[in-house]
Amino acid sequence: MPLDAADHAAVASFCAEHAIGLVVIGPEAPLVAGLADDLRAAGFAVFGPSAAAARLEGSKGFTKDLCAAHGIPTAAFARVTSRAEADAALARFGAPVVVKADGLAAGKGVTVAMTLAEAEAALDALFDGSPAEAVIEEYLEGEEASLFALTDGTTVVALGSAQDHKRVGDGDTGPNTGGMGAYSPARVLTPELEARALCEIVQPTVDALAGMGCPYSGVLYAGLMLTADGPKLIEYNARFGDPEAQVLMPRLEDDLVELLHAVATGTLADRPAPRLSPHVALTVVMAARGYPGTPETGGAIRGIEAAEANGATVFQAGTSAGPDGLVASGGRVLAVTATAASVAAAQAAAYAAVDAIDFPTGFCRRDIGWREIARETR
Ligand code: ATP
Repeated sequence: MPLDAADHAAVASFCAEHAIGLVVIGPEAPLVAGLADDLRAAGFAVFGPSAAAARLEGSKGFTKDLCAAHGIPTAAFARVTSRAEADAALARFGAPVVVKADGLAAGKGVTVAMTLAEAEAALDALFDGSPAEAVIEEYLEGEEASLFALTDGTTVVALGSAQDHKRVGDGDTGPNTGGMGAYSPARVLTPELEARALCEIVQPTVDALAGMGCPYSGVLYAGLMLTADGPKLIEYNARFGDPEAQVLMPRLEDDLVELLHAVATGTLADRPAPRLSPHVALTVVMAARGYPGTPETGGAIRGIEAAEANGATVFQAGTSAGPDGLVASGGRVLAVTATAASVAAAQAAAYAAVDAIDFPTGFCRRDIGWREIARETR
């Protein structure tokens, strides 16, 4: 019987019964629901923030207010709770502008509006009569990169960077997805910019939460825009992203469990900073036809061993065991990761592994890493 993560008491008794020494909470929903709080209260070592600290991901308004109060670089913004307030903010910012649902209306997403008409259409959908909250933001110009940091509430250590590919189609076209591929490190985030982001964005955030009495313990994934004025925060995630984890983990040269345990027990300061391989890791997501709409499930998958024969790793996300072998059971089905000295070489190795997989109802992008490869070959 699988454990129901929403039943905190059941999770706690499972941990007690099996003498679990470290609980790692992956997704956002149980963090926001306070699973980390309840397990900590029951005496377990937990990797993952409390519900109060996970508001960094759960509420865009909370994060924006925290940035404003502590001088953390982010897009100028207005929090609005009515169409009239929204219109006033739109008039102030002009186009291009970004409209984000928050609070009760969350799930209606983010609209990067190049024109005021687009922004107004997004607001029409949001303020449709039912209570809604939104954040209206200044449009930031630049390239995006993700920075990962581990923190035990006081000490912050960098855990590498990545760049992902959100759109479903080659050339960054088509609808947004959970991520069709990624690579690490994101060299566009130079060591100087990374140091700035840690010092101007991540550490002040961690200090602010500690000051509010809700220290953040876990991984902080900062989505950054690298603007002409330096890195600015777009959003925080309270977890390792997917497919970002599939390119960070292969580069980690330290024992992951020891590292996460140090976070959970507040002893990060006692150990050396995490070591990452200088090699590039690149992952290609193989999705089921129809994704991100309605994915076609049940399609046969063969050739995983052949794909891994030359050193690639195939992570399985949306698979299950059918009577005749492995079948697709979700939208994003496999993530195929390869490492090499350059992005171009890692890309070639990842696609060689992808091509060894026989998954007729699957598809993938063929251009993961294109930005960095263009820079490498310049
Ligand atoms: P995710 O699925 O990445 O968690 P989300 O719904 O939490 O998305 P954000 O990350 O805040 O929303 O925004 C989604 C995307 O919109 C960003 O990755 C970025 O490309 C774009 N974006 C957000 N804010 C801005 C901004 N101020 N200026 C320019 N682009 C922005």
